[in-house]
Amino acid sequence: MTTLVASSSTPHDDPSSSKHVRGDLINTWLKYIKKEWGQDGVNEARGLITQPDIHNKNFYSMSEYETLLGWVRNNHGEKHLRKGGRFVIKNFGLLSWIVRFASFRMIVEKMPTRIKEFYDFGKGELISKGDKTIIIHLYDICTTPDVCLVHQGLLEGALKATNTKGKVEHTDCIHKDGDYCEFVITME
Ligand SMILES: [Zn+2]
Repeated sequence: MTTLVASSSTPHDDPSSSKHVRGDLINTWLKYIKKEWGQDGVNEARGLITQPDIHNKNFYSMSEYETLLGWVRNNHGEKHLRKGGRFVIKNFGLLSWIVRFASFRMIVEKMPTRIKEFYDFGKGELISKGDKTIIIHLYDICTTPDVCLVHQGLLEGALKATNTKGKVEHTDCIHKDGDYCEFVITME
């Protein structure tokens, strides 16, 4: 299986910012915004991002991503963060191709590695509990509660894309005094 490699991990913006996200994550969110709210929505959300161009393989300040997600929540409600997460997993370049052929377990088991390709900080950990339960711990990744909801949506999207029946619960959170963000996936 081909893996996505961040060929250029040089931050292209505010050097004082220590957390960065890959451009294609931002660009895929802009696609979701276009699908839901048209070009007017894109123009409005895009106007809040300070970078004139977002290149898929470059890294940008996490604050740009947080601003974009904040725009979605403030203007259209937080349900769109999970819905957008489900869209992203199906429309994210190479990943969208992989999810069509892989099993849910294959996708989710790669998640801790994959996290490093999209964020230049934090880490992910996976705990398998028998055949039906998978627990994911994200350390430091969810910089805002919006990012938590996006990850919940990404996992829900991976279940759906692989025709796996199940649910994803966000059971522990760094924004609620947790040491990590915990997602419990229960498969039927
Ligand atoms: Zn959380």
